[in-house]
Amino acid sequence: MAYDVQMPLRSAAPTLADLEQRVRDDLACLCYPPANWVAPRTSPVSANAPSETVHDVVIIGAGMCGMVAAFALIGAGIGNIRIFDRNPAGLEGPWVTYARMQTLRSPKQLTGPAYGLASLTFRAWFVAQFGNDAWAALDKIPRPMWMEYLCWYRKVLDLPVENNVEVSAILPEGDLLRLTLAGTGAPETSVLCRKVVMATGRDGMGKPSIPSFVAGLPQAFWAHSSHAIDFPALSGKRVVVVGVGASAVDNAAEALEAGAAEVRHLIRRKQMPTINKLMGIGSYGFTAAFPQLSDAQRWQIMNYALRSQTPSPRGSTMRVSRHPNAFFHFDAAVENTRLDGTEIVIDISGGRSIRADFLILGTGFGVDPLARTELQGYADKILLWQDRFTPPAGEENADLGRFPYLADDFTFLEREPGQAPWLSNIHSFNSGAAASLGKVSGDIPGISEGASWLAREIAAKLYVRDFGTYWQRLLDYDTPELRGDEWTASDLPDAAPANTRLQA
Ligand SMILES: Cc1cc2nc3c(=O)[nH]c(=O)nc-3n(C[C@H](O)[C@H](O)[C@H](O)COP(=O)(O)OP(=O)(O)OC[C@H]3O[C@@H](n4cnc5c(N)ncnc54)[C@H](O)[C@@H]3O)c2cc1C
Repeated sequence: MAYDVQMPLRSAAPTLADLEQRVRDDLACLCYPPANWVAPRTSPVSANAPSETVHDVVIIGAGMCGMVAAFALIGAGIGNIRIFDRNPAGLEGPWVTYARMQTLRSPKQLTGPAYGLASLTFRAWFVAQFGNDAWAALDKIPRPMWMEYLCWYRKVLDLPVENNVEVSAILPEGDLLRLTLAGTGAPETSVLCRKVVMATGRDGMGKPSIPSFVAGLPQAFWAHSSHAIDFPALSGKRVVVVGVGASAVDNAAEALEAGAAEVRHLIRRKQMPTINKLMGIGSYGFTAAFPQLSDAQRWQIMNYALRSQTPSPRGSTMRVSRHPNAFFHFDAAVENTRLDGTEIVIDISGGRSIRADFLILGTGFGVDPLARTELQGYADKILLWQDRFTPPAGEENADLGRFPYLADDFTFLEREPGQAPWLSNIHSFNSGAAASLGKVSGDIPGISEGASWLAREIAAKLYVRDFGTYWQRLLDYDTPELRGDEWTASDLPDAAPANTRLQA
């Protein structure tokens, strides 16, 4: 794999093979994986239909959240799981598909999906190949290298990911869920399970935000930052990028490096956001406390963070501004676009307009369960923050209002109890959980905590649901720990008057 950042030559020792042995030793010391304790379920089949396997959990998505969730569940003794990803192996998530930054924003030392195992960290993986000096010299993690690390994580943990399998629908079937499968890797057309974890990513509880001002513009003239873009074709072209967040800036840089004649950022804000608010206050306390804060407090924080907007990283911004043909136009809200021959005319607030050849939307992703095809037919029955909480004047935020209002176990709640009870078996382990539970199911810093909460809650729910079975196990358990030859029963001594006992 080639990196945009210069990497030193690999050192002779220690090797990746040594590290892999260390991981195996660590897992052995931790007795991983423990025995599967979950009582098997059979499908509620009709008399002459063959019985069907019921999986305890199906994880949709094998990005880092899906993988750490699988690791946590298997470690919790829940081994009857499947993990599906619609992308080919090695192409899960944004890292080598549509992410266009040179390096990760996250500091290199974050432990991400390591789940408490030092040997599973990015640092251990890096040092095993490049040595400690290279680690000390490394500034930020090159983007494709993070994907390489995630591929190694999957391999060394032997996670049972099934690629090229899309879950197209999640449907209730009795007290189970039936998942409809599609894609070239789908081994069957559907599977039955008790619980679903939607580890579906940054846009995994919504969709890319596409402003209505491109509604009339032919698709050949614009793209969202998450789309495939033919950057070489932008050579010599005038490109407009809407927005100035990380993705907007990374796409602008790609266009400039591909030889665009000019790249103009159109930015609604009057000023550049410069402070990464939530990163600044990150702590274990914040992570642990967030779900316990009141609705008003959680809304206050999330609304403030969304309104402040995360700035694009310094390195990414300079990657753009080093080009003399790059421009940042503030207080320039796009109002409309139209085609004039082969030119795009972009109308901007204040009665202004400019012309361009191609438009890139760096407008991010919105959370909106109604946009998820997997939940089609009942997504409107999911309780949202806008159903539950009325913000005080000045804190209104329609985007935040569309976040699902989740239970502590990441499951959806019903807007009207009794309308869709199966929602309590669908866990939203993706960015859509942020308003309810904080940033524990998306960004690198909190995902091991999130996976640990998720596994604990799923284990508890499975146990409580089948309490009768486990009670019977208790009654049936008859393996003696003592064999009967460790002691001898004795008769009590004969009763004697109190004063006799004292003399003796
Ligand atoms: C461009 C970009 C840069 C980022 N940079 C950083 C960063 O530097 N630091 C940081 O902490 N965070 C970063 N993030 C945020 C976050 O870390 C990433 O979004 C990360 O990929 C989240 O991991 P995930 O497992 O939740 O989702 P993903 O990695 O997106 O994985 C989700 C997977 O689900 C699969 N999937 C979805 N729906 C289905 C379905 N119906 N059936 C089957 N498969 C399905 C997808 O194919 C995908 O592989 C970045 C996000 C983006 C978009």
